[in-house]
Amino acid sequence: MSAPVAISTWNFGLRANETAWKLLSGGSNSLDAVEQGIWVVEDDPSITSIGYGGLPDETMRVTLDAAIMDWRMNCGAVGCIEKIKNPVSVARKVMERTNHVMLSGKGAYEFALAHGFKPVDLLTDQSRETWLRWKENLSDKDNWVGPHDMDDLNDNHDTIGLLAMDKKGRISGGTSTSGMAWKIRGRVGDSPIIGAGLYVDGKVGAAASTGVGEANMRIVGSFLVVESMKNRQTPQEACETAIKRAIEVHSKQIKADKEFQLAYIALNKRGEVGGAAIRKGFQYAVYQDGINKLYDAKYLYAQ
Ligand code: ASP
Repeated sequence: MSAPVAISTWNFGLRANETAWKLLSGGSNSLDAVEQGIWVVEDDPSITSIGYGGLPDETMRVTLDAAIMDWRMNCGAVGCIEKIKNPVSVARKVMERTNHVMLSGKGAYEFALAHGFKPVDLLTDQSRETWLRWKENLSDKDNWVGPHDMDDLNDNHDTIGLLAMDKKGRISGGTSTSGMAWKIRGRVGDSPIIGAGLYVDGKVGAAASTGVGEANMRIVGSFLVVESMKNRQTPQEACETAIKRAIEVHSKQIKADKEFQLAYIALNKRGEVGGAAIRKGFQYAVYQDGINKLYDAKYLYAQ
C-alpha cells in the first residue's frame, strides 16, 4: 500500500493536493484533507467553475453543488445552494449533523446559516461581465446588444473532485462545483449525487467525476467505477469501463457536440490511481511518494 495519496481533477487539483498532502503527511484523516483541499479551489475567484467566482445560472445567480463521503459510508451533499462559499463544508455538516444525505436550495442555505456559515455574494465582477456577454449573445431579436466573442468560454464548467487515502489507509472523497454556466434555475448536476459524482467504498476505493453531469447521472458513473474495482479492475481499467458506458449511451450527443466531455478519477485501497475521459484534454493531479504531478488522462473517443 502506498499511502498517503491524493488525486484530484484538473490542474487546479495540484493546489488542492498540496493542502491535502500537508494534512495527510502530518497524520490527519482523509476526510479533513479532502475538505480542506477543496477549500483552496472554492475560495479562489479566478476559478470560474467552483465556489466563489463561479459562473452563474441563466438568472445571474451563482448556485453551488457539493458532496463528501468517507470510508465508513457516511455521506452528505448540498445541491443548488446560494451565497455560501464552501459548500463542501455544508455537505460535511449534513453528513455529520443530520440523518439526511442531501439538502438543496433554500433549505440548504438556511441549514448553513444555522451552522454559522456567513452569507457571501459569490458573483464576482468578472463572472457578472461574462454573464452579460452571454446574455447579449443569446439572440438578435431582443434588446440586448451583441454579439461578442465567446471563444474563451467554450469550456464553462468543471468540478474539483478530490480523493485521498490517509496513513491509516482510510479513503474519503469530495466534490464541489458551480455546475454548468447559464444552467436553468434550480438545476442540480451530478457532483452532489452520491454514486454519480462521487462514491467511496472504504474496503475498495473511491471515484469522482467531472464533465456533463447529466450524462454521468444516467450511468451512475462513480458507483460503476468503484464497483468495477470491487470486481478486480484496476482504477485505470475501472475509469475506462465507465467512460465506455458513457460513450455507448451518449454516442449521438458526443458526435454532435465537440465540447461534450466526461471524465473520472479513481483510487483504490492499494494506493493505485487512474483517470480516463471521453475526449482529449482532461488532466488530473496525483500527489504520491512526496511528488505532486499533473497527468494527461487517457481518452477513449477518437475525434
Ligand atoms: N459535472 C459538473 C456538472 O454537471 C460540471 C463539470 O464538472 O464540468 O455540474
